[in-house]
Amino acid sequence: MRAAVFGVSDGLVSNVSLILGFAGASAPVETVRLAGLAGLVAGAVSMAAGEYISVRAQTELLQRELDLERHSLHQNPEQEIRELALIYRRRGIDPDVADAMAKSAMATPELALETHAREEIGVNPASLGSPHLAALASFVAFALGAIIPLIPWYVTAGSAAIIASVVVGSITAFGVGLALAGFTGRSRWFSAFRQLAIAAFAAGVTTLVGHLVG
Ligand SMILES: [Zn+2]
Repeated sequence: MRAAVFGVSDGLVSNVSLILGFAGASAPVETVRLAGLAGLVAGAVSMAAGEYISVRAQTELLQRELDLERHSLHQNPEQEIRELALIYRRRGIDPDVADAMAKSAMATPELALETHAREEIGVNPASLGSPHLAALASFVAFALGAIIPLIPWYVTAGSAAIIASVVVGSITAFGVGLALAGFTGRSRWFSAFRQLAIAAFAAGVTTLVGHLVG
């Protein structure tokens, strides 16, 4: 969910800035539409690619750690039992109970790997995350955020479209800020106005640059 909210935020801020940058340069409506569409597709694809690579790298790293753990459980079961018992003792579990728990975790290779992976690496071997799903989620989230300021340009043009982009962009940025407050625990108003300020700043800078260069 958090990645999705950030994805929507990235799509919104980068595309509202791009669109207003072109509008600031008085580009014809066809050009603004094209720029908005290119921004949406290029941004969504690069976000998805980035997310795919980072989650793929993370899962490969964890898979390697799991393979090492599986190997060690097979090669040195006694040492692994002592290690796990030590982890439980450090948590304040009675030494005898800790030893018994560590021994019983070796009942089957799957249970042993799952227990050691959870206690030593902090992961559940069954859910290392899917790079494809993460990439798809990023693609959709970015595209959702990016299409919002673009829609007005398919309905109207000129200053009406600029105003509409700014209004729907602001409302969405505000909404994203409220959603983020759910994760950060910050004040909803603070988070919403901060998100609005960030989007306004980014769009303002690109509009100015578009105006100066245009
Ligand atoms: Zn272990």
